[in-house]
Parts: sequence; structure tokens; C-alpha cells
Amino acid sequence: MSDQKKPYVIAIEEHYWDKEMASKWATGEGAGPPLIRDKLYDYYDVRLKEMDSAGIDVQVLSHGAPSAQRFDAESGPEIAKGANDRLNEIVRRHPTRFQGFAALPTANPKAAADELERTVTKYGFKGAMIHGLSNGQKFLDLPEFWPIFERAQALDVPIYMHPAVPHPAFIDAYLKDYLKDFPGLTNAAWGFTVETATQGIRLVLSGVFDKYPKLKIILGHLGEGLPFLLWRIDHALSRPGGKALNFRETFREHFWITTSGNFSDAAMLCSMMELGADRILFSVDYPYVENQPGMDWMKHLAISTEDKDKVYSGNAKRLLKM
Ligand code: MN
Repeated sequence: MSDQKKPYVIAIEEHYWDKEMASKWATGEGAGPPLIRDKLYDYYDVRLKEMDSAGIDVQVLSHGAPSAQRFDAESGPEIAKGANDRLNEIVRRHPTRFQGFAALPTANPKAAADELERTVTKYGFKGAMIHGLSNGQKFLDLPEFWPIFERAQALDVPIYMHPAVPHPAFIDAYLKDYLKDFPGLTNAAWGFTVETATQGIRLVLSGVFDKYPKLKIILGHLGEGLPFLLWRIDHALSRPGGKALNFRETFREHFWITTSGNFSDAAMLCSMMELGADRILFSVDYPYVENQPGMDWMKHLAISTEDKDKVYSGNAKRLLKM
């Protein structure tokens, strides 16, 4: 049963930081301990070594949270453009090992749509990654942001909705009693999940997929819990009193999910049952999560070799046209 041949592996939620962009946001958000920060700023040496030793062939690079989502409409476009230009230089240095997702200045939706087009057509970027609320304030499903989705559909590239530290009002109302002892609650332990799952749900409710029926959205962390909850959300929204909506079918048609930072057999099997093996893509969430545990988990996962190959790279090749 075991694979003799090493699988070709594409990991698609793998982060770096751009010094210039990161110097422009006010907080230390996302930096993590020095070891993580060093790896975010390492583009070639440790990164390639760790990809090689784990058996990861390609990283689709994206800026780490909060990327360009903390900038206003005036400052965002130039900052994002500079970061994307420099990302392109990184990718071009190792074109067989790296690809890129654009950072978009979402507070200026027209400029964000134009930047998506520029980076896809000029640099061959594979889509874009958006980190949490635009300008720290607004969910991206609001109609003012639809120019971004319109352009993504026209270019046939996916938008990856990634978490960032959630709105302070949410942290205050729901989490603050435990933050001192458990600071991770704000981010990957729970806050990230609530915010990004909410963003995913809101996208379906907004009608954006009726307007743009070919729009493709990626969620990390095995779908931020949504595959487990699809049946219940669908059932509850269908009760009398609400607008007609086929939530589950819409989600299954427009969303792809990745394994980033969630190497759980149970969550993976649930996701496969709900979405199918064609919708799940391998990711690590480097450097916040290490490569080797992700690869070890995949190796021992009790799914067919055929499905495993789809997750390792087959689905990424199709979705990202690689
Ligand atoms: Mn991530």
C-alpha cells in the first residue's frame, strides 16, 4: 500500500513577511516569537532547506497576517504594490519552488481589483490572499468590495480568505477573561476561526455567488470548522422566516479548503465526506506550523493514494493552473 515514489507536493498557505510592508502597521500583530519572525524574513536559505527535508516541492507564498488589510484607502495601494513587486522577485529567483498570492489593498476596492489583475497578468500570481477585516473594520462580503470578486472571476483566480486578529469588540465581549493565561485564544486557538468562518458564511449570505457564479474562495485550516457545521447551518437557515438559500450547495460549489495548521484525521475525514477529495489542498501554514508534522500526518492518513495525490498537488495544479 505504501507509496514508493515521493509524491509531488504543493503547499499553498505558506507565509513570508515583507520588511517594508510590515514596518508600516502599527502593532506587532502576527510577528510571533523571534524564531518565527526570522523564518518569515528568510526567503531562501532555511525555507528551502526545510522544504527539501520535509519533501515539499513548491510553496505558494503569501504575506502573513494582517498583510495589506490594516491600511486605509489612500496608503494601501502603493504599499501593496511594492510588496507584490518584491514578492515577484522572490518567486522569480526560484520559479520551480515558489509561486505567489498577491496582497490586496482592500480598503480601496478598485485599486485592489486592479492590483489583482496586474499581479496575475504581469507576474503570473495564482490569486490573492486577504487577511481578516478590511482596514480592521469591514467584512469583505459587503457590496463595496465586490469589484475584487468580479475581477477574480474574470481572471479565473481564487481569493484565499485568511484570518487576522479579530475586531476588538469581539475579543472584549467573548475572550478577554482568559487572554492573560491563554493569549493564543485571540488568534489560532479560536478568534481566527470565528472571524474567518463568519466571513465564509457571510459571503454565501451576501449573494456574491449569484452575481459571480464562477467565483472561487479558499479557506484554510480545513475550512475554519464549516465542513463540520454545513448541515446544521443549512438546516437552520431553511427554517421558516428567512430568505430562500441553498447554503450547503453554494458552499460546496464555491469553496476549496486547505489543511493548513489542522492535521486532524477526524477533521480531514469529515471534510472529505462533506466536500469531497477534489476540494481539499495540502498546506502547512509555514512558519507558524512546521513542515515535517504536516508531511508525516499526510503520509499516515488513512485515505486512498489517489485521493492523497489530489490533496498533495493534483487539486492545486487544477485550481491554481500550475
Ligand atoms: Mn496562515
